[in-house]
This record gives sequence, C-alpha cells and structure tokens, in this order.
Amino acid sequence: MRQVSVVVPIYNEVENLPHLIPAVAEVLTAAGLDYELICVDDGSQDGSTERLRQMAQARSDLKAVILRRNYGQTAAMAAGFDQATGQVVVTLDGDLQNDPQDIPRLLAKLEEGYDLVSGWRQHRQDHGITRLLPSRVANWLIGRVTGVKLHDYGCTLKAYRRELLQDMHLYGELHRFLPALAYIEGARIAELPVRHHPRRFGHSKYGLGRTLRVMMDLLTIAFMKRFLTRPMHVFGLMGLFFLLLGLGLGAYLLVLKLAFAQSIGQRPLLFLAGLAVISGLQLFCFGLLAEMLMRTYHESQGRPIYRVREVVSQS
Ligand code: UDP
Ligand code: MG
Repeated sequence: MRQVSVVVPIYNEVENLPHLIPAVAEVLTAAGLDYELICVDDGSQDGSTERLRQMAQARSDLKAVILRRNYGQTAAMAAGFDQATGQVVVTLDGDLQNDPQDIPRLLAKLEEGYDLVSGWRQHRQDHGITRLLPSRVANWLIGRVTGVKLHDYGCTLKAYRRELLQDMHLYGELHRFLPALAYIEGARIAELPVRHHPRRFGHSKYGLGRTLRVMMDLLTIAFMKRFLTRPMHVFGLMGLFFLLLGLGLGAYLLVLKLAFAQSIGQRPLLFLAGLAVISGLQLFCFGLLAEMLMRTYHESQGRPIYRVREVVSQS
C-alpha cells in the first residue's frame, strides 16, 4: 500500500497539466514519500484527455482515469478516491491555484492525530464580488448548519485518511461538504492556512448558479446530519402538532354546536380543523415511510449507525 495518493479532477485544463504534474511529483519526491498521482479527466474537450493519456504512458507515478463524459467535480473526485490505494488521500485542483508545496504540511498536520485536514485559502486570489460574496455567505451558512467550524469549505486542497473516505459516499455536488460528511462519520477535523494563486491558464468552470445548488445540497446535509437515523422525530413531531391542533379546533367547534347550539357548518375554522387533522396524519405516514427508507438506506449499504475509532482491550 502506498503512503499517499494525490487525486486531481481535470476538466479542460490542458495548459495546466504540463506544469501541475511535475510540480506535484517534485514536492512529493523531495519529501521522500511513496506516492501515486491520480488525474481524473472529467470529459474534457480541449485536448486534456490526450495530453493526460500521453503523460500517464510516460510516467510510472501517474495514473489517468478518463471518464466517459463530464460528470462534475464531485463525481470526478469520487472516481479518483475509488482508484486511490494510498493510506492518505490528498485532493487538489488541476488549475495550479492550490500550491503542491502545501501537501507535506497537510500530511504533517494529519499525523498530529486528525482524520481530515482542510486547506484554508487565507489570501484567496479570485476576484470579483460575484465570487467572493457568495462564498462568504456560503461558508458562514455551512458552518452554522453543519456545526463544523471551518473558514473555507470551497478549497479542494485537503488530506484525508483512507478509512474515512471509505465510509463516505458522494452525491450531487457534495464535495464541498466533505468536511461535514466526515463530521457525521465522527472524524477529527483540522484546518490549515494554505497558499492560493490566481489562475494562469484556462478559466473557472463555475458561475453564480453554483450558489443555489450549494444551498440545496446544504439542506440535504442538514437533514442527514440531524435525522439520518430518526426521521420520525422530525415528521412525527410536526404531525403530532397538526393533529393536536386539528383535534383541538374540532373539539372547540363541537362544544359550540352541542352546548350552545351554534351553527358551525359555514365557519372557516371547521375547514382549518379538517385540514390540520389530514396534514397531521399525512406527516405521520410520511415519517413512517422515511423511517423505512432510512433502514433500507443503512442496511443496503451495510452501513452501521455508529463508527468505532478504536477498541481497547487486554486480550
Ligand atoms: N472540474 C472538474 N469537473 C467539472 C468542473 C471542474 O473536474 O465539471 C475541476 C477543474 O478542472 C478544476 C477543479 O475542478 O481542477 C476546480 O474547478 P475551478 O478551478 O473551475 O473552480 P474554482 O477554483 O473556480 O472554484
Ligand atoms: Mg480554480
């Protein structure tokens, strides 16, 4: 088993490849590490695929994983994780914005006893209010919702312990939430300031639309974190609330009708009571359904509802 696997998602980065690959190799060789470099070509159309294929044929430390089409950064990273054999997996952007020189520092931090060390682009070199403001807001929100306090979630430069990655499953655009997913799995997480450079070649693959998708993913994560194993606690409680509300209103109207002989057939309150009872019952059923789904989810993946860090015993 290798010590380190470096995973890099590549989408239309043809001019960056000849700089990136030797730079990473040089740093890791100088650090005396037994490493492999895994570049995942995410359906590039600019010749990156060909370039990567050539380079992988020429170098023994490089493996090129070529995807059939463009699946997005999360899927590209997941493909790299699946191929990685290292005890530690490092991810980094393919556009030279992250600095390979930071990799040994990340590894050293990991050795201090963490499962994930996340880079923090303290002096971020992306300009323009449309990039920095959404990122600020997103970082703040993600921190609030997930309970993982990091300054920078968007930085790809991170180091993971292999066991941790094996427990995490990536969907959608969840790569940005890897620290949050790791936290759900009980990981110890640290953050380390890293260098960041402006893009020299090619251009960014993301625009403002990303912010909205990130927000949707955040909802999923928030839900998973709190209620993955007990959805009935959310839906059941809401259902109970509506059911009691509906029954209370109904009882009130019944008293008016029977004791005071008032006509209640035309009152909006009667409809509200009916609506609340039906909503309550539906939420209950929904909660039960979600419970069954969650059981299938856990059991189909052989996923335990806990993660053991270590077992200490005399024998
Ligand atoms: N990327 C990818 N698939 C995509 C979009 C991006 O593999 O569909 C890669 C891209 O080549 C780069 C990294 O993900 O290595 C980050 O992308 P980018 O630099 O455009 O993001 P930014 O730094 O602007 O947030
Ligand atoms: Mg970039």
